[in-house]
Amino acid sequence: MASNITMNIFIIYTGGTIGMVQDESGTFVPFDFDLIKNNLPDLSRVDYKLTVHSFDPIIDSSNMNPEIWLKMAQLIQDNYEKYDGFVILHGSDTMAFSASILSFLLEGLQKPVILSGSQLPIGEIRTDARENMMTALEIASTKHNGVSVIQEVCILFDNKLFRGNRAFKYNSAKFEAFRSPNYPVLVEAGIHLKYNFEALLNNTDKQLILHHKLDDHVGVLKLFPGIRPDTIKAILDSNVRSIVMETFGSGNTTTDQWFLDLLEGAIKGGKNILNISQCKVGSVELGRYETSQGLKAIGVLNGYDMTFEAAVTKLMYLQGEFEDQERVAYWVEKDIRGELTIND
Ligand code: ASP
Repeated sequence: MASNITMNIFIIYTGGTIGMVQDESGTFVPFDFDLIKNNLPDLSRVDYKLTVHSFDPIIDSSNMNPEIWLKMAQLIQDNYEKYDGFVILHGSDTMAFSASILSFLLEGLQKPVILSGSQLPIGEIRTDARENMMTALEIASTKHNGVSVIQEVCILFDNKLFRGNRAFKYNSAKFEAFRSPNYPVLVEAGIHLKYNFEALLNNTDKQLILHHKLDDHVGVLKLFPGIRPDTIKAILDSNVRSIVMETFGSGNTTTDQWFLDLLEGAIKGGKNILNISQCKVGSVELGRYETSQGLKAIGVLNGYDMTFEAAVTKLMYLQGEFEDQERVAYWVEKDIRGELTIND
């Protein structure tokens, strides 16, 4: 398995710390792609052909939104045939949301789409940007018998390639910014690139289908002991079609009747409530404890081991696809892009 000298890679530069500089007041502000190029002399030594599309304006990823996600997905489809792989340079703060939504929007992907960035700007002496970017480019250009080895949306950070819809930012201070505890690392970069072949998606017999619609009427209810009924009611009554409910442990909540009645009322009123855990490792097991049996009985949906990022973006995607709430409910519990593991 070797990188081929004729590989064409399309880079989408959205912004983020990787290309930031400090202004006079010491604040980090985004800078254009020339900064990255000038700080990466190695780019002129690699044999793949790079084409760069820069966002205008370049953004901190906290300003990412569904409209930009759709444009990013469209950009990949428009250039899909011309390029062997795609690298998206992106701020790490919301990278896991972008990676998750792209995994849903780009069905049947047969080429790598790798998001990467860095914790320190590329101009800093101890930056992690060079390694991250060069490794992302190498993996994006790797083929075996003419077929891309990676056929999914991923995140490359600190020498590890993660499935995009399984990863989340867990550390804002270390170079090891991302983790994916519920799914194995896809590639480990040391002296060699060690591919975990069994963990990779294989879409070789599929065709790319771009999905064009998102519906962002999604809410979040994070539980804590003592949360007030009127707080819960305000969220359940808000103008959303679905609510991601972050529960305790393996999907547990209070068994208080007022709580179950509020949820049941919202479900009967046509809202979907998706149960994911506040724990970062492990899965929701609806009905395992008495404290989740009531939820199952009233029709709360099982989010299994999905990340928060995958849950929110999957609902936006499904709501864009289906006006019928029951179809959204049906598909959200299914594994559609490798984002969850069903355990019952
Ligand atoms: N605030 C930055 C961003 O997400 C942080 C980073 O790039 O790591 O755009």
